[in-house]
Amino acid sequence: ISSAPFYFRTVVLGAPGVGKSSLIQQLTRCDPSNDDDEPRFVDSGAIVSVQLDGQESTMEFISGSDLLDLECYKADAYILMYAVSEPESFTRASTLLTYLRQDMGTDRTMFLVANKSDLVRQRVVSSIEAKKFSQNNDCHFLETSTALNINIDQLLIGILCNIKKQLTPL
Ligand code: GDP
Repeated sequence: ISSAPFYFRTVVLGAPGVGKSSLIQQLTRCDPSNDDDEPRFVDSGAIVSVQLDGQESTMEFISGSDLLDLECYKADAYILMYAVSEPESFTRASTLLTYLRQDMGTDRTMFLVANKSDLVRQRVVSSIEAKKFSQNNDCHFLETSTALNINIDQLLIGILCNIKKQLTPL
């Protein structure tokens, strides 16, 4: 039924300081029903309503930096976030991605997100390398800047489209 309510949870993981909270804050601004400009937070996350193909979905975003956080939540999608200016944050994100895909055998939607793309001069992680790594792990790749609001809508819609694809029987 097209009007059935859809509720999807995305867990945002990454090293401290990569921009997880900033991303969640930006995502709440994509929600046109949130017209009082007052983000609706749940614990360490947020709830966003998204209209896609005439269907309304409610998307919950929760952030964490620790693998232990994974055990607490059943997620429909994961964002593995790093900052292009912080090489150790890429190592962390790629470790998390490998752990989820290979050790836990998770088949959920995953996005490797390269944040702080506005810091052009401080960039140390090449997007070619990161993209190749994500392709090898059945993961999508997107570069964002939460500071400049670049690719945030694309990330939101990309996650929702892929979660919905997961639901559709082949
Ligand atoms: P978290 O610890 O992963 O939740 O990271 P925060 O969202 O708290 O961000 C850490 C710092 O990075 C803050 O000072 C943010 O303002 C900054 N930051 C977050 N996203 C960006 C971005 O896209 N570009 C730049 N230049 N700074 C960012």
